[in-house]
Amino acid sequence: MPQRNMNSRRTEMPAQEPTVRNRNFNEVALGYTTEMAMEEAARCLQCKHKPCVPSCPVAIDIPGFIARVAEGDMEGAYEILSASTALPAVCGRVCPQENQCEGTCVRGLKGESVGIGRLERFVADYHREHSKKAPAASFVPNGHKMAVIGAGPSGLTCAGELAKMGYQVTVFEALHMAGGVLVYGIPEFRLPKSVVQSEIDGLKAMGVEIVTNAVIGKSITVDELFDMGYEAIFIGSGAGLPNFMKIPGESLKGVYSANEYLTRVNLMKAYKPDSTTPIQKSRRVAVVGGGNVAMDAARCALRLWADSVYIVYRRGMEELPARHEEVEHAQEEGIVFKTLSNPVEVLGDEQGWVKGLRCVEMTLGEPDASGRRRPVVKEGSEFTLDVDTVIIAIGTSPNPLLRHTTPGLEVDRHGCLVTYGEGGRTSREGVFAGGDAVTGAATVILAMGAGKSAAAAMDKYIREKNKEQDL
Ligand code: FAD
Ligand code: SF4
Ligand code: SF4
Repeated sequence: MPQRNMNSRRTEMPAQEPTVRNRNFNEVALGYTTEMAMEEAARCLQCKHKPCVPSCPVAIDIPGFIARVAEGDMEGAYEILSASTALPAVCGRVCPQENQCEGTCVRGLKGESVGIGRLERFVADYHREHSKKAPAASFVPNGHKMAVIGAGPSGLTCAGELAKMGYQVTVFEALHMAGGVLVYGIPEFRLPKSVVQSEIDGLKAMGVEIVTNAVIGKSITVDELFDMGYEAIFIGSGAGLPNFMKIPGESLKGVYSANEYLTRVNLMKAYKPDSTTPIQKSRRVAVVGGGNVAMDAARCALRLWADSVYIVYRRGMEELPARHEEVEHAQEEGIVFKTLSNPVEVLGDEQGWVKGLRCVEMTLGEPDASGRRRPVVKEGSEFTLDVDTVIIAIGTSPNPLLRHTTPGLEVDRHGCLVTYGEGGRTSREGVFAGGDAVTGAATVILAMGAGKSAAAAMDKYIREKNKEQDL
């Protein structure tokens, strides 16, 4: 084992300068060099009780892969990662690590936790750039067919796990491209699409078939999939239906849902000079919300010619739900945070275009059911932001199409699919579900964890159903 690095601070990761990056869509964080990765890996104490591992929803052997990095055995590290995750380059970039693996890292008790996500990203990138190994061969087929609805992180993970067990898996994706939020939501400067594509190519090399432009519930129903010979079905259709505030003026021209705005920018490449996708040339933009989606929309707006971009959030800086790194990056790039502020009306001009956002100031009262302090309106505190665009990023819900077209599929009052037990069994026999379609908008790694447990449950279901046969 190389000599331990007892530096209390983690090894810095190079990034583009804020004043340069806020006008381009290239990746902000540039990743570790081999030397930096080995230096950071040497900070890991290789704790016997490994508190970081159970904090990772897919239970990566964190000290195991980090030990390989410290020794310079990057392919060995990659093998350990890929035993637990199909998307390490993605998770290394976008996981809310501070609340997961890094949140329980022992080094975090007296300094900064080990940069687990940065190391994961390094290993996955290293493998992509250096590996000469042929893509994984197909696994021994067991003769059973499975269908997956949605090619987001939950569906792709479920598909990969099933393929490893020998199932013939087809993923049906509504959009023209696989990846889910990873391609239509999270911007290029945070997660380059080539990185996502390469991880999807890895799944295809494992034998997973991906059919795009296939809206299940419209082109084919869930019941028709069974008729087509699929023996079990996983629904990973996400939560892509935007919520609005229901305040006056929300239907004015210049009001977008963050999903629409980000889809135009990311999937339809509106930022490219030769793109035919229309997008408003906004000068002054207010983004309502405080999560990752709000940060992404605000940072895209800044890169698309805006002079001023505000985040309008009804709680304080401490309560912002976005990843810390995204908030820091947004601040460095010049986004203005109007926290403890809540919109009450979008103002329009005579032509029906947005000309302002009327807001009230808030204070924080007693904790609500979520444990967070409830925002309370400050009397007489109204103010108006002079903006020409308002982007609403206050959450999303699952699209109702599948529940409307699948008899007997139980949903809760928020429209989320109801599941029973860890494996995502739904109220319909042979139908499993996971990810945002079940939890409502959450995180990539939780969606992946759900896809992985569902794959195990689907395998068990098929085995029990075919008891007499040897799978
Ligand atoms: P999705 O990624 O939504 O994928 C669902 C897929 O199903 C989509 O491709 C959709 O087109 C397809 N689909 C839907 N209906 C049908 C149908 N009827 N037939 C066929 N296909 C269908 N999480 C993090 O951990 N870190 C972050 O930094 C982060 N940033 C985010 C930024 C943005 C802008 C957004 C929107 C989300 C972000 N998230 C982040 C959340 C994370 O991306 C989601 O929790 C995760 O993608 C959920 O995965 P999923 O597979 O459940 O659904
Ligand atoms: Fe941490 Fe996410 Fe990687 Fe798990 S997948 S080790 S939670 S960064
Ligand atoms: Fe290493 Fe931190 Fe995990 Fe300990 S808790 S094994 S120091 S990453």
